Amino acid sequence: MPPEPSRSVQLADTVSALLYGIAGWLLVGLGAFGILVTVLRVVGNPASTNIVASLVVVLLSALFVVAGVLVNPRFRRRLDRRHSVTRFGRARSVDERVLRASEGRTERCVTCGTRLHEGLVRRYRDEFCVAGIPVVTLSEGRNFYCVDCATVEVTGDVASDDVVVDPATASLNDLDQR
Ligand SMILES: [Zn+2]
Repeated sequence: MPPEPSRSVQLADTVSALLYGIAGWLLVGLGAFGILVTVLRVVGNPASTNIVASLVVVLLSALFVVAGVLVNPRFRRRLDRRHSVTRFGRARSVDERVLRASEGRTERCVTCGTRLHEGLVRRYRDEFCVAGIPVVTLSEGRNFYCVDCATVEVTGDVASDDVVVDPATASLNDLDQR
């Protein structure tokens, strides 16, 4: 197993995800506020408002909303899981991540039945998609694999050291493409 990142790195990751989340919501809020105020002003008093200036404000606000969505780690993960743009309705997806001993969980390997604290988590999702982007999660299930079974699962072969999922670099996105 590769060495675990230190506690300070984990803390920094958590804090940065939180800050990105806050920045994202602030941008979305600011953008939505800008659009709302401008629309209300144009509708309330169409004669005295500058339509061009209002359009510019609405466009900038829309950019804020888009930037806010892109910056938010939760939305980004959803975007990472997107299907093709023509996909509407139910879609199934599978992703994998490494379960670390530091998460303090005890699970049972679905293949060999041994108890495990670290290994591989494979998550199955049944989601409702609009234009390929998962909007609602209809159902979700997890399978756990111990390190030995995970190695066989991932490589399709007996244990070898050269194809190991590296938790430091593996994201949901690149695991999806495996
Ligand atoms: Zn196993």
